[in-house]
Amino acid sequence: SIVVTGATGHLGRLVVESLLADGVPADGIAVVVRNKEKAAGLVARGVEPRVADYSRPETLTDAFRAGDRVLLISGSEVGQRVAQHSAVIDAARAAGVAQLAYTGVLGGPDADFQLAAEHKATEQLILDSGLPYTFLRNGWYTENYTGNLAPVLEHDAVVAAAGEGRVASATRADYAAAAAAVLTGEGHLNKAYELSGDTAWSLSEYAAELSRQTGRTIAYNNVPAETLLGILTGAGVPEPMAAILVDVDHAIERGRLAGTSGDLARLAGRPTTPLADTIAEALKG
Ligand code: NDP
Repeated sequence: SIVVTGATGHLGRLVVESLLADGVPADGIAVVVRNKEKAAGLVARGVEPRVADYSRPETLTDAFRAGDRVLLISGSEVGQRVAQHSAVIDAARAAGVAQLAYTGVLGGPDADFQLAAEHKATEQLILDSGLPYTFLRNGWYTENYTGNLAPVLEHDAVVAAAGEGRVASATRADYAAAAAAVLTGEGHLNKAYELSGDTAWSLSEYAAELSRQTGRTIAYNNVPAETLLGILTGAGVPEPMAAILVDVDHAIERGRLAGTSGDLARLAGRPTTPLADTIAEALKG
């Protein structure tokens, strides 16, 4: 089977949709989920549920079968992910899967920001496992920005600490299409792809496009790290996570999320979704 972990999350659902759209029969797809109720919609479509939790290795022993082509979607619990991913890799190796694809971060071993550390460690564990791998080094989701428009529209301001750095973002659906391609196609074993949008944009350009589409004047306020930290923690983001997000902005300022290798469009077989389209979609909702 083609097995997708994290399939009840935003990206995982879209990967399953892409697989089905690409003509993979539902009974050739399995999803590894920690909450079976949350997977009801997927199960109703004929996809096989395998219940397991990255944090409980004993639950992972039945998650994979020999010959499966597996997508490990990185977990969302920052700080616990190396141990969690390690347990998944061990289970995949014990089962003898044919491919382990992993959603890492743009830049792979060269990514020098804090959020990348767990991804780098995971890639190394996968290399050490000897399993045939495919590294999907995902850049930033456009939805990281467009999914949080309420405060922007309330204050007519995009607030960040990224200077004039550029982000080659793409939508989750774009990354999902690339993941589906490596799980169904040939020639992707023991390869690393640097996945990002076709066009890199700055937050000034983002604010300008928001202004154009809303008919308002939305500014980009580039603030010092301390200010952004205060805003994020004030909005309820835990301090360690807020610090990681500020660190990401500084990485953006250094151009670390600006790479446009074209790998994503090549794998998806189409251009990535333009920023303006994702903004338009978000403003509709
Ligand atoms: P989501 O938070 O929507 O999905 C994460 C998925 O991982 C969920 O299905 C969740 O299960 C599952 N998961 C988390 N912890 C465990 C666990 N212990 N055991 C089993 N499953 C677990 O994130 P997205 O889909 O948006 O993104 C996918 C991943 O990409 C994130 O988890 C994160 O690693 C990374 N990411 C990348 C970003 C980018 O811009 N490139 C931005 C944000 C995250 P459940 O549904 O039960 O909660």
